[in-house]
Amino acid sequence: MIDNTYDYVVIGGAQAGLAIAYHLKQQNKNFIVIDGGKEVGGSWLSRWDSLKLFTSTEYNHLPGLKFNAPKGHYPSKIEVANYFKTYVTQFEIPVKLNTLITAVHKTEQGFHLSYKDGKMAAKNVIIATGPFHIPYTPPCHTKISESILQMHSNFYKNPSQLQDGDALVVGGGDSGYQILNEISKDTTRTVYFSGDTNVKSIPQQILGKTIWWWFTVVGFLSFSKYSWIGKRLYTSTQPVIGTDVKEILSRKNVIPVGHTKDALNEKLFFENQHISTIKNIVWATGYRPNFSWIEGLELDANGYPKNYRGVSNIQGLYFIGLPWMHTRGSATLGGVSKDARYLASEFAKSSD
Ligand SMILES: Cc1cc2nc3c(=O)[nH]c(=O)nc-3n(C[C@H](O)[C@H](O)[C@H](O)COP(=O)(O)OP(=O)(O)OC[C@H]3O[C@@H](n4cnc5c(N)ncnc54)[C@H](O)[C@@H]3O)c2cc1C
Repeated sequence: MIDNTYDYVVIGGAQAGLAIAYHLKQQNKNFIVIDGGKEVGGSWLSRWDSLKLFTSTEYNHLPGLKFNAPKGHYPSKIEVANYFKTYVTQFEIPVKLNTLITAVHKTEQGFHLSYKDGKMAAKNVIIATGPFHIPYTPPCHTKISESILQMHSNFYKNPSQLQDGDALVVGGGDSGYQILNEISKDTTRTVYFSGDTNVKSIPQQILGKTIWWWFTVVGFLSFSKYSWIGKRLYTSTQPVIGTDVKEILSRKNVIPVGHTKDALNEKLFFENQHISTIKNIVWATGYRPNFSWIEGLELDANGYPKNYRGVSNIQGLYFIGLPWMHTRGSATLGGVSKDARYLASEFAKSSD
């Protein structure tokens, strides 16, 4: 039985879903935002405790409401969640929580959406379920002894989760370096690091201006992925922002070991050595996309839906918040507004 019919259903009620909801509200559309979480801001709150945004206040505004903090301040995850809560209240955005959509399928009139307790219908569906879905851990993790504590960065909160003894952090992106930084502050613990030690790192401030100011000035965040320069940026390795990689790697208790090759019980194999004293592993090894619950979707080589600026090749099905959906900024707080504006201009043409 169908519970309800809407002209627009937005699946996902974090920044991307809220940014498009703002426009739907402005256009007086009949819509609802559905989220599987138990509270608005849940996706941010589930990240590690000490997380500070790498974008300062002035680069975190969603459409219609400024992020309420001083310029130059790097907010905590709690401040972001509170900002979302205020946003929902201020714009009276209808949000249905605790409702994980498990299937979307196309009908003659639009779509049917299934969830645990029922089904709803929508003429149009906007998928805003985030850029990161399934935590990825290399296959060799299954060969590791149960006496070693393993967790993906998705489940890392703080060093108190670790047991006594040496640790290994795998992954040289922003998350890997931030977690390595935090764990290795306890100088009594040896922390092995498996990842790229030659990664480019960019400080938060250069010549008194934030890095995001410079990015904006040179247009780094707004080159379309369809432009030649955008294509180059899109395929290049992203630098680590705001973490002093050199300083962390110079700590006496931090030991780079190259790539993790294999494992067997207590033994971890790296490029030129193996180590048997590791008691904790944090895998900061990224995520894989999952859109398998949306029927009939065509995916690109990276597993993301084929689309142009969020308009998919299924009539009435849209996306927002995908990484590099249009520019480097597409999956950032400050950058999602532009994509939301574009999609909203598409909706404004419709009589729904
Ligand atoms: C560690 C980390 C730090 C970051 N720091 C910054 C930063 O400093 N600045 C910045 O601009 N960006 C940052 N980002 C990037 C980006 O802004 C975030 O990933 C952001 O959370 C993406 O927002 P989103 O709305 O697209 O998706 P998400 O925040 O992932 O939210 C998706 C929502 O969809 C819901 N959902 C998912 N599937 C379903 C379903 N099937 N049914 C119903 N609901 C569903 C979830 O419950 C969730 O609420 C960071 C990302 C990470 C991982």
